[in-house]
Amino acid sequence: MPTQPAFVIVGASLAGAKAAEALREHGFDGRIQLIGDEDEPPYERPPLSKGYLQGSKARDTIFVHDLQWYADHDIDLLLGTEATAIDRERREVTTSRGNRIGYDRLLLATGASPRHLPVPGADLDGVLYLRRVGDCEAIQRTFQSSSRIVLVGGGWIGLEVAAAARTADVDVTILEAGEMPLLRLLGPQIAPVFADLHREHDVDLRLGAHVTEILGEDRRASGVRLADGTRINAEAVIVGIGAIPNTQLAAGTGLRVDNGVVVDASLSTSDPDIYAVGDLANAFHPMLGKHIRVEHWANALNQPDTAAQSMLGKRALYDRVPYFFTDQYDLGMEYAGYAEPGQYDDVVVRGDLGRREFIAFWLADGRVLAGMNVNIWDVTEPIQELVRSGNRVDRRGLADLDVPLDQTATA
Ligand code: FAD
Ligand code: NAP
Repeated sequence: MPTQPAFVIVGASLAGAKAAEALREHGFDGRIQLIGDEDEPPYERPPLSKGYLQGSKARDTIFVHDLQWYADHDIDLLLGTEATAIDRERREVTTSRGNRIGYDRLLLATGASPRHLPVPGADLDGVLYLRRVGDCEAIQRTFQSSSRIVLVGGGWIGLEVAAAARTADVDVTILEAGEMPLLRLLGPQIAPVFADLHREHDVDLRLGAHVTEILGEDRRASGVRLADGTRINAEAVIVGIGAIPNTQLAAGTGLRVDNGVVVDASLSTSDPDIYAVGDLANAFHPMLGKHIRVEHWANALNQPDTAAQSMLGKRALYDRVPYFFTDQYDLGMEYAGYAEPGQYDDVVVRGDLGRREFIAFWLADGRVLAGMNVNIWDVTEPIQELVRSGNRVDRRGLADLDVPLDQTATA
């Protein structure tokens, strides 16, 4: 009797769980083992800096599926289990529990981990990072027990946690090393929207602020010192200075690792039996004509379907327009496309920047590279279509709320 094919997925979070789901949806009836080093079943991270952190979303709503779903779909969920090595010749994964698990196809979905702040005092109690549900719950307790926190980094974690902290009536200082939060992504015309938003909520936003030391009393963080000697007191220090892809497992296997695990548009590595998705994958994007690694929810949600099809020998390419969202106070935003600094030569605003109800477009040579809608809804599809089409647009029409977005193309 022929043995059943066995597919192994390493990383039991959004991408891993969605891959298992997609494999079943595409008719795979062999064995699926989903290996995760966390103790919780796969869950989504966006609520950890928003609804769940603020207490408006219940814990049971963060999970991708309930436990019964895995049993119903015959998916072996191996939690609390780290994959420690891959033997490509034997096609086996070794785990921290001492097992060797054979695979016919292997999907790597090991995600990313917080970048650590390399300064004296970084190991004190009260220095917190945010990636896992336990981190979120530690920050929830901090909000209850503290009146003043410092956030290091004015990226997505810094800004979203600041909003949650202010909503909990905790005083917040954000220390941003650059000239302005989100400056690199949004540029000087649009980035001030977020800086102003936080200042209006009484966040003490310090720019060009470099932390040199975390100060402590009785082994607990009591504040930070900056490069210019300034001391800022706080009862906790929350660090959000970026994420680093978890490539340790892939490193040393001969797979190409370069800012993540390098895959083609079918999400396959150079080994036809091994695939990668989500925050880990540095994937060739056909629309952009280059490799990109995306650290956002929609990518982890959608790439697995392509990977599952590729693993099953079907022809599939991942070419969705990159997309992400944020919610801070009463500002909701969606961003679609990809516009690196230096790549665009024009920014067009449609709507009212001051009232924070607008769409911003980043253009190069009259074509839309990216669009961001702020407190304007149901427009991400036409924005993505403008990006995808590569058509030249009429700049005045784009800026005019009365001209439908799908009538702004000139060619
Ligand atoms: P991860 O979520 O990182 O999951 C990887 C899993 O693999 C983890 O459980 C990890 O522990 C496990 N693992 C790693 N190595 C091993 C190993 N060797 N063996 C076994 N298991 C292993 N994006 C948005 O677009 N909008 C948002 O509002 C948003 N909010 C966010 C809020 C927070 C607090 C965070 C942290 C991220 C947020 N993101 C958001 C980003 C989004 O959550 C990520 O892009 C997404 O989680 C990536 O999913 P993933 O499955 O690829 O990786
Ligand atoms: P991030 O969004 O990449 O922002 C990191 C911030 O820290 C940037 O402002 C960066 O500045 C700064 N920084 C980098 N190195 C630093 C250093 N050594 N010292 C001080 N500041 C430094 O990362 P994050 O906010 O930590 O979030 C972690 C991950 O979660 C990311 O993958 C992020 O995409 C994801 N996330 C996403 C969302 C969302 O999409 N809404 C929400 C929360 C988390 P420069 O830009 O100048 O380098």
